[in-house]
Amino acid sequence: MPSWAARSGQQLAGGFLGCLDGILGDQEWLFKVLQLKRSWHSFRRHVCHYCGAVRRLEGDEPETMLFTAYGPRAAHRNTLIKSKDDWIAVHGHSTLTAVPGFTPIRIPFAARAAKKLFTTAVIAPSATGYAHVSQKYLKGGAARMFVYWITEVCYAASMTDPSAHNKHRTNVFLALASIYTTLAEQGRYLTQEPITDIHYAYMTFRQSYNYLANEALNAEKFVWQLLPKQHMLEHLFLDWVPIFGNCRRYSLYLDEDMVGRAKRIVSHTHPRTMSVAGLNHFALAAALRWCGQDALLR
Ligand SMILES: [Zn+2]
Repeated sequence: MPSWAARSGQQLAGGFLGCLDGILGDQEWLFKVLQLKRSWHSFRRHVCHYCGAVRRLEGDEPETMLFTAYGPRAAHRNTLIKSKDDWIAVHGHSTLTAVPGFTPIRIPFAARAAKKLFTTAVIAPSATGYAHVSQKYLKGGAARMFVYWITEVCYAASMTDPSAHNKHRTNVFLALASIYTTLAEQGRYLTQEPITDIHYAYMTFRQSYNYLANEALNAEKFVWQLLPKQHMLEHLFLDWVPIFGNCRRYSLYLDEDMVGRAKRIVSHTHPRTMSVAGLNHFALAAALRWCGQDALLR
């Protein structure tokens, strides 16, 4: 047991106590910190720490074990790691599994915002690669709002040219926008109706995305790639949202904002009172957020 473990149960500065509610990070961070046996970053056959999805088939495995398969009929849906015992059987024992109350659901992942927003071919047809926008000008959280704009653009294009490609492209962004709107309208936990709406919107998104991916593959164009993040999105919408609640409340974006907010508080505090004042403000900010009162902080 590490020496710092002897400090468990003691009070922090100002009498605060910490309580581990879950671990959140992007896939690479989770892979390294939790030493996962299955991860996209392990470069092995299995790609997901939460189920048995694979990147290549072996023996007579059905095609729906591939991480590119989606929906309730995908074979990897039958291999979900739901319990502590399931987790230990795949990833082994760790300090984490020794924490009372540990369940795999306490380890949701969060995707970092990709810097690639548009191909430069859109902006300058002769260029290759992607245009980057610095987070100084556009934070990942703000970039999400582009989904409404791009839905409008694609919808307008599908009205002018109602080809299958244009319709599916509109569907992809319309479905994502509808999921985002549903989540924004809901509180910490969702009732069955919005959960079902999100489920159908996700299936529409994947159906149209996979259509576009197949189309690109047949045309030998390296676009509409099927990424492991889409597989994780399936766990988010089909597994975590129904149990863990509204992912807007535990996404990395909000936590990054919270870290930034805590840093601002501490940097404006006198060193002698920094620890207590910092924890006081953080407790206030975190508690109001979890009570759904974070609007008061602005
Ligand atoms: Zn999975």
